Amino acid sequence: MSGNHHENERAPMINNGVFIYPGSFDPVTLGHLDIISRASGMCGRLMVAIGRNREKKTMFSVEERLDMLSDVISSHGKKGGRSLSNVEPVAFNGLLADFAKNCGAHVIVKGLRAMSDFEYEFQMALLNKYLDDTLETIFMMTNVEYTYLSSSAVKEIALNGGRLDGLVPQCVNERLQRKILNLRGMNQ
Ligand code: ADP
Repeated sequence: MSGNHHENERAPMINNGVFIYPGSFDPVTLGHLDIISRASGMCGRLMVAIGRNREKKTMFSVEERLDMLSDVISSHGKKGGRSLSNVEPVAFNGLLADFAKNCGAHVIVKGLRAMSDFEYEFQMALLNKYLDDTLETIFMMTNVEYTYLSSSAVKEIALNGGRLDGLVPQCVNERLQRKILNLRGMNQ
């Protein structure tokens, strides 16, 4: 092994292919970023994919969420983290299994925080396998620091003026503050 690897870049490539990490990312948190960074070291290319047709009511538009992901991904290496040059944020329509096939991806990555994530994720993994049995879902355990962290908790804290450092990247924090000012402005 050559000795000039950054410590965070030690993860072995377990697959040279394309992995997909789907989610709402409304907004992207440090918990998501931890999964992105770890998964990016295990594949040739990682697509961070936002489904356009989810019915969930979101705070940020798909375009805003893509923009935040791009910012966070490009600044990660500059802030001393692993370079995420093989990570690409994308939005898709329709079924994740179809999108994965079109991208040539055979692996879906999901994060697991607690048992409460398991049932839903188990169902989704089995349904995706039913739709395309060449598709594998792999689960990565959350970093223990982020077990309690979710986008909805972040939005709740932001709406109520709480501290967000340690939960979201700085640029996401700034956008949350701006968004909340805009929302308040619209309601007056
Ligand atoms: P959230 O559940 O926070 O609204 P998403 O729907 O965007 O987030 O989640 C996308 C994926 O990221 C899911 O697989 C989810 O389990 C995972 N994830 C979300 N937050 C974390 C976290 N703090 N640690 C690990 N994985 C996470």
